[in-house]
Amino acid sequence: MGENYDVIIIGSGAGGGTLAHALAGAGKRILLLERGDFLPREMDNWDPKPVFVDGKYISKDTWFDRDGKPFQPQVHYFVGGATKLYGAALYRLRPQDFGEIKHVSGISPAWPLSYDDFEPWYSKAEQLYQVHGNGGEDPTEGHRSQPYPWPAVSHEPRIQQIFDDLGKGGYHPFHAPCGIMLNEAQRPMSTCIRCTWCDGYPCLVHAKSDAEVIAVRPVLGRDNVTLLTGAEVTRLETDDSGREVTGVVVTRDGNREVYRGDIVVVSAGAANSAKLLLNSASDAHPHGLANGSDQVGRNYTFHNCKAIVALSKEKNDTVFQKTLGINDFYFATKDYEYPMGNIQMIGKSNAEAMRGEQPEKTMFAPEWTLKDVAEHAVDFWLTTEDLPVPENRVTTDKDGNVHLTYTSTNDEEAGRLYAELKKILNHTGMSAHHVLRKNFYMDMAIPLAGCAHQAGTCRFGTDPATSVLDVNCKAHELDNLYVVDTSFFPSIGAVNPALTAMANALRVGEHMLSRMA
Ligand SMILES: Cc1cc2nc3c(=O)[nH]c(=O)nc-3n(C[C@H](O)[C@H](O)[C@H](O)COP(=O)(O)OP(=O)(O)OC[C@H]3O[C@@H](n4cnc5c(N)ncnc54)[C@H](O)[C@@H]3O)c2cc1C
Ligand code: SF4
Repeated sequence: MGENYDVIIIGSGAGGGTLAHALAGAGKRILLLERGDFLPREMDNWDPKPVFVDGKYISKDTWFDRDGKPFQPQVHYFVGGATKLYGAALYRLRPQDFGEIKHVSGISPAWPLSYDDFEPWYSKAEQLYQVHGNGGEDPTEGHRSQPYPWPAVSHEPRIQQIFDDLGKGGYHPFHAPCGIMLNEAQRPMSTCIRCTWCDGYPCLVHAKSDAEVIAVRPVLGRDNVTLLTGAEVTRLETDDSGREVTGVVVTRDGNREVYRGDIVVVSAGAANSAKLLLNSASDAHPHGLANGSDQVGRNYTFHNCKAIVALSKEKNDTVFQKTLGINDFYFATKDYEYPMGNIQMIGKSNAEAMRGEQPEKTMFAPEWTLKDVAEHAVDFWLTTEDLPVPENRVTTDKDGNVHLTYTSTNDEEAGRLYAELKKILNHTGMSAHHVLRKNFYMDMAIPLAGCAHQAGTCRFGTDPATSVLDVNCKAHELDNLYVVDTSFFPSIGAVNPALTAMANALRVGEHMLSRMA
């Protein structure tokens, strides 16, 4: 056992990578342990076959469902974590998401902090991750203390047409907040080339605001920051009292190594963080580390989502499609007493990726090839909040493997949102009859595997009986253990989770710096 670090961070994604960035500038000695490697920069990054059909960048892990059936989870082990593949839609939660919300399947609980508490951190995270957006356009958005650092990414003609038609139909479409380094005012100076290989693909030219490019790489040259890749943390050891983590056990190059830090931060992704804590059971923590409340692994959420392909006779030659959002159904409407969720665009369909999925022939034009279908497709992503229920949970078996038990919630809301989308299509020249469900984006075998938006397994709160972490994301039961990935979410809302994880990591970083001062 060698050097004692000020902070050891396990996982370099949205939470861990951002935290490392926040602490590095203050000179703290940081050890960043990442089980993956740097994602290779290669032409495959932008090729749908290796990315979507072969799943080249998806981990080879096996997890098990409630019946013990194995599946391959869609998780990504790289420096930068899941953000290497993400769509970079960087939304804030709505102010109401921080309070209690009544849903058709039950209650989405309040957070221990409010939107006002998070707002300054959202602003800082938007600055750091160079978010492009148009403040004030989305009527459900909370107040902001700083404008977006970059103007919104413009709509291409087909999407602009949909935007205009929606406006005429009485809807309130907005430019989706987005983390790509696109400089539209000075295209020759732009790092981003505005390509179609963004959502779900790694960015070959490092122009996506992911945690590797934005947070980790910039601090790697510093003497006080050490990154170890290929370093899988398998166990956390404590002193006899169980109050302090004294050893971080790592498997690297087939060897067992142990590291020490004054503060230890778990940020391995919601399922893997729960796995690590549960697999670190000891005499002092017989049910898993920090799990006296039996809450570790519970309340797993990952959104109730649908990916939809709408077909129009008109060709859709959009290159970068993820520029439009609709939150008209985010809350209860006059026609429905419960929230339904968010509608946004996803990356443009292409024939190669669709081949992996083999959608049904369309009744719209049965003679169409997949290429025709893809050329005419307009692709939507529907997100309904799923509720944190204790029975939806991560557990581990005697070999330490992840088991995921999950039953969906708010299906009626998700169905209503889909029905609203079909009405929308009528305003935009796409008939509601010509809609396909597509799965390739979100799952390999079963929906459970599409865990891109996983959250909620170590929720923060004020009551140690019902939460794992306190409001600073420190484990109630330990003095030096923190969790800063999406595990801390008490509820997930219906917008993409990464910006909230990034903002929270900056918030927790400041708390840690004051603790270490
Ligand atoms: C295809 C795709 C598209 C997405 N699109 C969006 C989007 O548009 N907008 C959005 O907000 N969100 C999006 N997401 C979700 C977003 O990427 C995640 O919410 C976010 O990255 C979660 O951050 P995290 O820190 O919790 O976990 P991660 O970013 O996954 O980081 C966890 C890290 O821990 C490492 N790790 C795991 N176990 C160990 C271990 N035992 N030891 C050491 N290291 C370990 C992993 O390798 C990984 O690097 C998308 C995700 C995917 C997969
Ligand atoms: S659109 Fe820009 S950020 Fe996205 S993959 Fe292409 S170059 Fe990279």
